[in-house]
Amino acid sequence: MDSVQQDESGALDRRFMQRALELAARAEQQGEVPVGAVLVREGVVVGEGWNRPIGDRDPSAHAEINALRDAARRLQNYRLPDTTLYVTLEPCPMCAGAIVHARVSRVVFGATDPKGGAAGSVFDLLPSDGRFNHRVEVDGGVLATRCAERLREFFRARRRAQVAPSAGAGDGV
Ligand SMILES: [Zn+2]
Repeated sequence: MDSVQQDESGALDRRFMQRALELAARAEQQGEVPVGAVLVREGVVVGEGWNRPIGDRDPSAHAEINALRDAARRLQNYRLPDTTLYVTLEPCPMCAGAIVHARVSRVVFGATDPKGGAAGSVFDLLPSDGRFNHRVEVDGGVLATRCAERLREFFRARRRAQVAPSAGAGDGV
């Protein structure tokens, strides 16, 4: 790949990560941890998802799984070859497994997840472990600062909300 091609693919990666960030905001509006994902084939979005395990009462309803389900429904195929999955946070082991099962070609993530990331932070499942029968490439760090900041802001606000009631009581309310 020459440098012009690299610049173009970098711009595309940022554009789709921007869309994933918009979906992360939707998760946050619904009281979920803000993570968003889009699945892209040949420059076209074919699936979108955001984190909603609480609302859906479904422990598997991570952004990546929801984007894969959306795409599989739209394309009427449980396998999604020649696609790139953009997600604002490094995938967990469950999602890494689903990504391999779906035959996704490439994963692009934003922030790393030092507590459970499966693309090298904690587990080494992506790029796909050689024992899998399908190869997935991975690129991390796209819009990483913004992706991480959205998560930090969310947890900061949630801590403030948890502290507020007792502070009020202390004021004699
Ligand atoms: Zn996950």
